[in-house]
Amino acid sequence: MNNTCIICGKPKRSRFWLCKHCAVEYGAYNVPYKLWPKWVREFIRYARVIEARNKQFNDVCISFSQVTMEKIVNTDGEIVT
Ligand SMILES: [Zn+2]
Repeated sequence: MNNTCIICGKPKRSRFWLCKHCAVEYGAYNVPYKLWPKWVREFIRYARVIEARNKQFNDVCISFSQVTMEKIVNTDGEIVT
């Protein structure tokens, strides 16, 4: 979760998906998550997918950067020299 509101893009507190203004405006302030408007929940679901993809991508980048020309890992996870 990043530090911008998923609806308006303005900075927000990091443990919330929405800034306070949007939460109040779109019926998600002090309301249980399952009662939030469906489109807001869809936004969050989509944001979670993007976040998971970014994490996967970063993990792949890290593992590629650890591989050098001398050390290639085979499909069994063994390092082939
Ligand atoms: Zn907002």
